[in-house]
Amino acid sequence: MSTKKIKEILVTTPSDQAVIVQGWCRTKRDSKNHAFLELNDGSSLKNIQIFIDKSKHDFEDLSKISTGASVWTKGLLVESPGQNQAVELHADELAIIGEAPAADYPLQKKRHSFEFLRDIAHLRTRTNTFGAVMRVRNALSYAVHQYFQNNSFQYVHTPIITASDCEGAGEMFQVTTMDLNKLPLTEDKQIDYSHDFFGKEAHLTVSGQLNVETYAMALGDVYTFGPTFRAENSNTSRHLAEFWMIEPEMSFCDIEGNMDRAEDFLKFVLSYVLENCQEDMAFFNQWIEKGIIDNLKSVINSEFHRISYTEAIDQLLASGKKFEFPIKWGEDLQSEHEKYLTEELYKGPVIVTDYPKEIKAFYMKLNDDNKTVRAMDVLVPRLGEIIGGSEREWDYDKLLSRIKAAGLNEEDYWWYLDLRKYGSVPHSGFGLGFERLVQYVTGMQNIRDVIPFPRYPGNAEF
Ligand code: ATP
Ligand code: MN
Repeated sequence: MSTKKIKEILVTTPSDQAVIVQGWCRTKRDSKNHAFLELNDGSSLKNIQIFIDKSKHDFEDLSKISTGASVWTKGLLVESPGQNQAVELHADELAIIGEAPAADYPLQKKRHSFEFLRDIAHLRTRTNTFGAVMRVRNALSYAVHQYFQNNSFQYVHTPIITASDCEGAGEMFQVTTMDLNKLPLTEDKQIDYSHDFFGKEAHLTVSGQLNVETYAMALGDVYTFGPTFRAENSNTSRHLAEFWMIEPEMSFCDIEGNMDRAEDFLKFVLSYVLENCQEDMAFFNQWIEKGIIDNLKSVINSEFHRISYTEAIDQLLASGKKFEFPIKWGEDLQSEHEKYLTEELYKGPVIVTDYPKEIKAFYMKLNDDNKTVRAMDVLVPRLGEIIGGSEREWDYDKLLSRIKAAGLNEEDYWWYLDLRKYGSVPHSGFGLGFERLVQYVTGMQNIRDVIPFPRYPGNAEF
């Protein structure tokens, strides 16, 4: 006899075949003649109800079972008289696997705040909300691969340790094996990195883009999906120090193709989750963000608005709104500006293009105006920036002068420049923070609650 997941058992029809259920007890109701257990095994939001007829069985373990305990039981599946489920299990055998002493099991049957649950991140997945978040996260990551694989993209694993400060995108974490109390110094009292593990300064990557561009120049359409690190001290609800990033890179592709791809990709993964995570999405719709299902459906059926940065600034200035950070041409959009554009003005996703070159990375293609670059950010309601991308500078001389203008070392980029020297082609790509996507899809307010073990300033517990 095979043991099935509770999710599968709940949709089976009763038969005279015994079934085995294993899971964690969510609640126990015990009276003189019978007892009910609600068991959950993480396969779905739903628990299975276990009915125990005390006149038939005197299970020794029953008294030891409390919320959080792990339980094994075997019995017949029967139609349930209860309203909440079609079937329930009538236990003929019952055993406790691991006790969860009620005196100190932290997840009692009541509502806990997300802040409290963050402190017990090793147990929080046993709650309805975090179980649902992690199942949706799982489905989304599968959808990401499915989308790219269906569209003939190749998955490339880019390095996590890097010796080139790619983007200056936020601060980097340094990687070293040197003894910080006894740093070797050069003659002019600088740290001598020739003694370090890699013989030079190394960091954790902030993006796989520069590496993956090399693969786009050989394999065509490629993507990375891996962890990235930013030591930015931003204590916001949408920044983590360690997060997963999805970065497609497409050769023979300009910024228009890039925008089309980003829009098509987002619509695909949203549709995938609405179709495959109905139970969990209904939960978010009811308890976390009312109306989120309709909201995502309308995004799938809409066309994303496309405006230039300059237009966006004009519209913000014309809005008559009093922003905390007054905006003017040349400055980056703050979250309040993104909110105005997506939630008030366009009431849907907006792609903003052609940002001033000063506020964007050196590798973005310079426009003919010499002032703006072919950047594109996808902004969505509730969250703001979810995707940042661009058409890349593919002209050798222009790229070199941008590297110099940015104060970067030409020598550090020799291989990146080589791509423009040998068989260069127009190419484009974008980066999507995976956790921002999970936030967007679930409606969870804080990014720390959509990754299993969040890393942020002052916190690397678990
Ligand atoms: P922001 O302005 O929101 O900090 P960014 O301009 O630094 O974003 P990029 O460098 O373009 O972002 O990175 C690409 C994507 O990675 C962003 O669109 C976002 O989805 C995600 N991202 C960036 N920084 C973080 C972070 N600290 N935590 C989680 N996701 C992030
Ligand atoms: Mn940032």
